[in-house]
Amino acid sequence: MSASPNNTKVVVLGAGPGGYAAAFHAADLGLDVTLIDRRAKPGGVCLYEGCIPSKTLLHTARLIHEARDAADWGIDFGQPKIDLDQLRKHSAGVVTKLTGGLGALSKQRKINYLVGDAAFADPTHVTVSSNGDTQTIECDNAIVATGSRVATIPIAPDSPRVMDSTDALMIPDIPKSLLIVGGGYIGLEMGCVYSALGAQVTVVEMLPELLPGADRDLVAHLHKRLNKDFKQILTSTKVVEMTDTGDAIAVKLSGVDVEPEQTFDKALIAVGRRPNTENIGLDEAGVELDAKGFITVDINRRTNVPNLFAIGDVAGEPMLAHKAAHEGRVAAQTIAGDPAAFDPNAIPAVVFTDPELAWCGHTEATARAAGIPHKVANFPWAASGRATTLDRNDGLTKLIIDPHSERIIGVGIVGVHAGEMLSESVLAIEMGALVSDMAMTIHPHPTLSETIMEAADVFFGHSAHYIPRQPRTRKS
Ligand code: NAD
Repeated sequence: MSASPNNTKVVVLGAGPGGYAAAFHAADLGLDVTLIDRRAKPGGVCLYEGCIPSKTLLHTARLIHEARDAADWGIDFGQPKIDLDQLRKHSAGVVTKLTGGLGALSKQRKINYLVGDAAFADPTHVTVSSNGDTQTIECDNAIVATGSRVATIPIAPDSPRVMDSTDALMIPDIPKSLLIVGGGYIGLEMGCVYSALGAQVTVVEMLPELLPGADRDLVAHLHKRLNKDFKQILTSTKVVEMTDTGDAIAVKLSGVDVEPEQTFDKALIAVGRRPNTENIGLDEAGVELDAKGFITVDINRRTNVPNLFAIGDVAGEPMLAHKAAHEGRVAAQTIAGDPAAFDPNAIPAVVFTDPELAWCGHTEATARAAGIPHKVANFPWAASGRATTLDRNDGLTKLIIDPHSERIIGVGIVGVHAGEMLSESVLAIEMGALVSDMAMTIHPHPTLSETIMEAADVFFGHSAHYIPRQPRTRKS
């Protein structure tokens, strides 16, 4: 039950997926909401230069790969002809459609949407500056949702040949050779896009493995496929020097068995993101940061200043849109006087590469590191009928299970459409589902989601389609 409509004035700084979710929810709860952003419509990095354009391009990349693979299935589409102008126009059209929709939803909720740079003057006043004009808004509560920006490396030269993710999403051209520094979410997703479009992609990752947060057996499937699609994947490797030679980017690399001097047409730096906590008057408001530079928040996303809240990328890892949106709802509910807490058992993560990699709850690595007893039940997609019909047996579904309670405490999936499959696992973990619940839940056949049920069957030694080397027999 929400609080009755009141005149509480809430200002939300930043209209990304965290900020607009917070503002929309606060308005739905009857609060008087002002939402401030530099852009004319809500959406933030996610819609304008992140999740949405990258997923639009990744869909195109998938299509190119499927058309190529279709030759083996008896349909030869020939070489794709790529019209970059049309591709950019299509991607921009998707962004315009979605941000326009959000603008309309904001208006329908009678939110006061202001365009400009927002900053606290003190805990109850926010200034909004635009084109030399400044206005001051009074508020009872405010929610900081100013997001994050791309990080860079000091050795990267200021050159049009060196891109960040925003530049890369514009697809200014298709370089013959592309160096990607960073083997995380952005590096690998954009690597998939550019390699499908025809670039020879080299990924340099300083750590020994790609995607450090995910389990190694899942990443291994992705790595195997990317080894075919990319020219080189250089792990445990550092870029020590980077120079624009006028017609190329020359780099010096330090790593084992790595050609130490290489040149590329272009480079993309994808080494993480930094929270946007500067120039928004946090000092004036008295808001504290933690040692990593994130705003300190409690379970309600309240900062050390009682009327101020922070959500999304400024309030800590993981920097994911869906985490920000949920935090936004919690902050809005708390301000409205409703009971609320941000205390999830599982935050889903999806890397939209080909194949996709998705996980939630504990990974095997986090369970091991925390000393949590666990068993793992794997179902390889080589045994999945649906994966075989798609000619995509390169996948694995794994459950992490508490051996005492037999609760599912984590799920990891690598394979096509893994991201679309993940939500039932998040629900299972949030509901405290037992592995037997998953095994007894009838999944439609033939689907990839059956692999989750079959992984549960593997735990009991009952999988119809897969017999592990050492089948586990159920304890009585
Ligand atoms: P990331 O943290 O995922 O990956 C950065 C990688 O760069 C890491 O593996 C790190 O070890 C490596 N690295 C750092 N410095 C390096 C150096 N000097 N040389 C070589 N490697 C180096 O960061 P990202 O890919 O930039 O993405 C930023 C954030 O944006 C992510 O953490 C994620 O939260 C978010 N994001 C999410 C999605 C999604 O949900 N699908 C997609 C894109 C981005």
